[in-house]
Amino acid sequence: MNERQGMMVLANCEGGGGMKAAQAALERGGAGLDAVEAGIRVVEADTSVVTVGRGGAPDLLGVVSCDAAVMDGATGRAGAVGNLRGFLHAVSVARQVMERLPHVLLVSEGAERFAGEIGAEPAEMLTDEAWARYEQWMRERVPVGVRARLPEGDLAKIAWESCNEMTAGGTTVFLSIDGNGDIAAGTSTSGWAQRYPGRLGDSPIIGAGLYADNRYGACGCTHVGEMTTRACTARSVVLYMKAGASVREACLEAVRDLRSLKGGYLGPVVIHAIDRQGSPCVVSTGPVVKGLDYFYWGGGAVGIEMRRAEIAA
Ligand code: ASP
Repeated sequence: MNERQGMMVLANCEGGGGMKAAQAALERGGAGLDAVEAGIRVVEADTSVVTVGRGGAPDLLGVVSCDAAVMDGATGRAGAVGNLRGFLHAVSVARQVMERLPHVLLVSEGAERFAGEIGAEPAEMLTDEAWARYEQWMRERVPVGVRARLPEGDLAKIAWESCNEMTAGGTTVFLSIDGNGDIAAGTSTSGWAQRYPGRLGDSPIIGAGLYADNRYGACGCTHVGEMTTRACTARSVVLYMKAGASVREACLEAVRDLRSLKGGYLGPVVIHAIDRQGSPCVVSTGPVVKGLDYFYWGGGAVGIEMRRAEIAA
């Protein structure tokens, strides 16, 4: 058997534009992490993806900030950034956190300082279109008295206004296996639109939004990050596989965990997972407006396929 036959890439609905770059990275003999990073960079630069990178949605104060992470299943090394402002490729900064620092997660000013030190590409992340959507939402949902006082005032009073799938969502997830059989996972998001400033979702949280372990497989999650953070979903899926579950059984067990949560903001979650052979399973906890389609390249001649996730019963 050709040792490269095991290569694969899976990307969620937001990641379609990056699939070719990820596939090409693997075909050139790149590592799984190279493929994940290459794919996510395309999505981050694409302003038509309004939930990732440039063109993404701002927080309640109108500021765009990005979260991203990578994890190397061969070594368990990981890097992540949260609340990163002013840099185009959060995923590359996350990768360099992993490569260069004794740390896993940098946030806010520290992440921006590091991005500057490594020569990451600065960018104006707020587009006119994103600002127009923000302004319209604020006009429709936030009382004029509250708006007039911004950036002062009590934002906690309006924090729940953005709790619905159309605003509270959007991440790109990539999972890959390279020609050596090494598994990698990556995420990137501009986060929940009109979120409370400083809010981190699950995308930069290793074990919640993503996890990779060569011995068992990998997982990446989208939608309500508060839930996957509470349930440690990505790590749980990999642990269920460690305990002997198939990739689908592992995802369904994680769905049961998510459904057992009570209180807080509860909404849909889509779980993307592969086992160590690259067999995929994508499961949603329920119907979603967006997010059931995903992209899969299995390393062979079939090419990149668009597939449909299962909605858990
Ligand atoms: N999980 C992301 C977050 O909580 C949002 C999403 O993927 O829909 O920030």
